[in-house]
Amino acid sequence: MSTNTDELFKNVIAHAKEYGFVFPSSEIYDGLSAVYDYGQNGAELKNNIKTYWWKAMVQMHDNIVGIDSAIFMHPKIWKASGHVDGFSDPMIDNKDSKKRYRADQLLEDKIAAYDEAGQTDQAELLQTEMDNALKAENLPRLRELIIEHDIKCPLSKTGNWTEVRQFNLMFSTQVGAVAEESDTIYLRPETAQGIFVNFLNVQKSGRMKIPFGIAQIGKAFRNEVIARQFIIRMREFEQMEMQFFVRPGTQKEWFNTWKETRLKWHLALGTDAAKYRYHEHTKLAFYADAAYDIEFEFPFGFKEVEGIHSRTDYDLSQHQQFSGKKMQYFDPEVDPDTNKPYGNYVPYVIETSIGLDRMFLLTMINAYEEEDLSTDEKQDSRTVLRLHPCLAPVKAAIFPLTKKDGLPEKAREIMDKLKLDFNIQYEEKDAIGKRYRRQDAIGTPFCITVDHQTLEDNTVTIRHRDSMAQERVAADQLDRIIGDLVSW
Ligand code: ATP
Repeated sequence: MSTNTDELFKNVIAHAKEYGFVFPSSEIYDGLSAVYDYGQNGAELKNNIKTYWWKAMVQMHDNIVGIDSAIFMHPKIWKASGHVDGFSDPMIDNKDSKKRYRADQLLEDKIAAYDEAGQTDQAELLQTEMDNALKAENLPRLRELIIEHDIKCPLSKTGNWTEVRQFNLMFSTQVGAVAEESDTIYLRPETAQGIFVNFLNVQKSGRMKIPFGIAQIGKAFRNEVIARQFIIRMREFEQMEMQFFVRPGTQKEWFNTWKETRLKWHLALGTDAAKYRYHEHTKLAFYADAAYDIEFEFPFGFKEVEGIHSRTDYDLSQHQQFSGKKMQYFDPEVDPDTNKPYGNYVPYVIETSIGLDRMFLLTMINAYEEEDLSTDEKQDSRTVLRLHPCLAPVKAAIFPLTKKDGLPEKAREIMDKLKLDFNIQYEEKDAIGKRYRRQDAIGTPFCITVDHQTLEDNTVTIRHRDSMAQERVAADQLDRIIGDLVSW
């Protein structure tokens, strides 16, 4: 049994690997730092999270549509968005270990250490000084703080630091076969720009009227200086983003609406509300109106899962300037103050941006339970993933009680009907109890056992994951029973 949060986190990571959810990338070659692969159950869970998001955002809103833009984009886009010049982290190297760290991360760890030791004054002072240095982009000051606070390299345990430099997080590559002729292009560090540059295409082809949104799910790439905490900070990850275009002046209202709507989306999965909190950004980007993060309490503390940002008309205006194309919308609605149409304007944008991988980890951690089933007679336990049935990778497992007497054939016949609608697994190996445990470990809500009675009256035993209760039901009721619980 996990006794503390560190151990719990380690156990979840081990479980994710053992049961085919997440594998380290390129593992047989000793892995690739901060890159992970999703296994057979992980891919299903990830797809189900995407579907839940897409349905909630696109299908349930008649004024939101979804797109799928390319990862490669014109390099000027990243100039216009500010990523070429500004998407960087302050980095420092330790001269002895030759290891690279994020300067702000080293300072944050020190602040946490002060806090833990009860030195709250020190913690607050350092926080303020670090915030000021970051705001002023004062890199030498960050180094001074690291030295003043005697921060040592975790590896070499020395304080022999280089200067602090800005390190751009975008990966670049070349288009074209001949290096001299080629242009540098970037792997997108966010999906949002693919939405902005298609704003007019979607608005015109979809005859969209403001307010409206464009949603997208896709890969993003960031050359994170340090990789930490499993799939929380990866170099290749996935985002689910929605940009909502509104009339200038209405952004506050829409910001509040989306802030609340997005938290409700999280809570609708049944997660304990106490595990979530909002974090308001006090240091806003110069163009931003308001920014909140939705944070979840992971075993290592609260961490951002989703950002809701009021981005004004910054992105569209930048693309208007850099592309020379008008990024305007004609609003025919009449302004009651002037009695004239609102006319042409560059819309304001509210963005909701959630990391799919962080959502995946949150879901795993939240669902994971090591349950003690001991009785007076015997010790027993199980590891169960109490996933929301909509998200469960496998919806039901079918077990013939034995491998003979026509039971496997009957089980397969039932399965063939159900698999048209649900992801179903067939298992005939080992005792039923063992098979239950394997399905509990991947979060399968139902296990269905086919026995000799089934051959006589076409009934089966259905066993529920959470209560472990069993009941006898007609086999032709199964699609309704499963459907009631797992449909969206
Ligand atoms: P952080 O401060 O944790 O680096 P961020 O503020 O840079 O995150 P955004 O640019 O707002 O993140 O991206 C939106 C979402 O994308 C985040 O809320 C997070 O869930 C996810 N995300 C960002 N970077 C990564 C990463 N390296 N690996 C996995 N998910 C990420």
